[in-house]
Amino acid sequence: MIKLHDKYFKPFISAKEIDAILDKMVADISKDIGDEIPVFVGILNGSFMVVSDLVKKYPKPCEVTFIKLASYEGVKSTEDIQRLIGLTQDLTGRTVVILEDIIDTGNTLNEVHRIFKNENVKTLKIATLFHKPEAYNKDFKLHYVGKEIPNKFIVGYGLDYNGLGRDIPEVYQIKETQHMINLVLFGPPGAGKGTQANFLKEKYNLVHISTGDVFRFNIKNETALGMLAKSYMDKGELVPDQVTIDMLNAEVEKNADAKGFIFDGFPRTNAQAESLDKLMDTKDSQINAMIALEVDDDVLVERLLKRGETSGRPDDANESVIRTRIGEYYKKTAVLKDYYSAQDKYYGVDGVGSIEDITKRLSAVIDNL
Ligand code: AMP
Repeated sequence: MIKLHDKYFKPFISAKEIDAILDKMVADISKDIGDEIPVFVGILNGSFMVVSDLVKKYPKPCEVTFIKLASYEGVKSTEDIQRLIGLTQDLTGRTVVILEDIIDTGNTLNEVHRIFKNENVKTLKIATLFHKPEAYNKDFKLHYVGKEIPNKFIVGYGLDYNGLGRDIPEVYQIKETQHMINLVLFGPPGAGKGTQANFLKEKYNLVHISTGDVFRFNIKNETALGMLAKSYMDKGELVPDQVTIDMLNAEVEKNADAKGFIFDGFPRTNAQAESLDKLMDTKDSQINAMIALEVDDDVLVERLLKRGETSGRPDDANESVIRTRIGEYYKKTAVLKDYYSAQDKYYGVDGVGSIEDITKRLSAVIDNL
């Protein structure tokens, strides 16, 4: 994902795909034109990249020139009048191929046709790398269309958003959903994830999903999911991936308007992490950070036994179950540290100290994302 000015964009068309589209366009154009020497006319600014790359691929001699659309504002009060400037060459009798980066409404084509009506060219062909059929409201024929795309704002490969993005070698599409902050709060049982999540969800207006809490809720209500989960939880083992993933997806879907999530107790395996990435992707979003609370084993056991005196959680009452859970955490979930480190999203935070101090440490990480 990238940010230009105030908007976020996600990868849409790779440089490799653009290259393949250009190969196809060149093949089609050169087949039609044969041995004649065409004049490619790029319309600035956006077309500079496509013109440059396309003519390099063109198998026979060709000429290249550029024109630009200039707006004269305020001539009529409501609309801008656009004029093409830069056409100095005599094109009488020539085969001209207009090259556009994108044709959406087709307004530019009005002006192109108006100008070229007086140029006495032999043929006028229109070629465009991208075309938005849903936005197009003209009758002009488009002779060569690289790729049809949905009517969403794109940048890159010559196309800009308020001046930025033209230099990017691939194409990005605007993200329409609001920017979310999604955190994975990580740490062994007893590290204080639940406590901290409560502060963070208020501060950043996030939805907190604790898979452990959801399982416990289901056990209390004696649902089928609860019964299934209980057999694993009582032993301190992990509930099977598919059960947990389905449950988590359903919890996220229940909060379609969320400004972001704190995932607490999830993911705990690589398969869960991958499924979470996919889920975020469907929301035009991503996990921004995995924040791990780091606490010593003995401190954890002490904290959990104390919590067990009042929480009524059977998995907190017994030291060996607690140690199994901590063991599970390091054995199975330490791989997640690698998973998120590889994406540069892992942040370790010292989880020993006052609740307030730890909240401050966590906030410092989030504020810097
Ligand atoms: P927690 O409250 O996060 O310590 O979770 C308590 C128990 O719920 C764990 O020991 C597991 O049995 C089960 N559980 C919670 N989250 C997951 C998960 N992501 N994957 C598998 N099991 C889970």
